[in-house]
Amino acid sequence: MTGIDYDLEFLEDGRTIELISIGMVCDDGREYYAANRDMPVRKIRRHQWLMENVVPHLPKGHGDLRNSMSKRWLFHYGDPRVKSRATIADEVAAFIQATEDVELWANYGAYDHVCLAQLWGTMMALPDGVPMFTNDIQQEARRLGIAWDELPQQESGEHNALADARHNQIIRRWLAQRA
Ligand SMILES: [Mg+2]
Repeated sequence: MTGIDYDLEFLEDGRTIELISIGMVCDDGREYYAANRDMPVRKIRRHQWLMENVVPHLPKGHGDLRNSMSKRWLFHYGDPRVKSRATIADEVAAFIQATEDVELWANYGAYDHVCLAQLWGTMMALPDGVPMFTNDIQQEARRLGIAWDELPQQESGEHNALADARHNQIIRRWLAQRA
């Protein structure tokens, strides 16, 4: 089995889950990060928690690019990490399909799994090689009788999808040593 730990930032309103950004790390060392240029910007602006916790981590470009960013933007439209939802769907499928016998892992991952799977449409449209469920490090910790505050703590970057995915991998591997 090869593990892929991932994390999504998203906007959910009790009916829909809309992708903001995605981070994935694979046991073979590959990493992926993208922010969705089609994210619902107007709704996000009205969401205080997202504005305070998630938007500060979105790609703003580097150097001259950063200086060219409009103050009104939540992210830099010219940053190469900002991609259309369709491009993200293709790239994420390829990232997962590049390894055989893959396990997906996330933290409180139910919403992450739905938002991930909806990149490709309905459940029926899930690409070959993409697992139909995501394992949850919360469940694994519970199974092993380990409280969350006994686990390694995330030093920085919380709510940056890639930083969160990397931390999930640390937790999953730490738990596996104790299983
Ligand atoms: Mg996160």
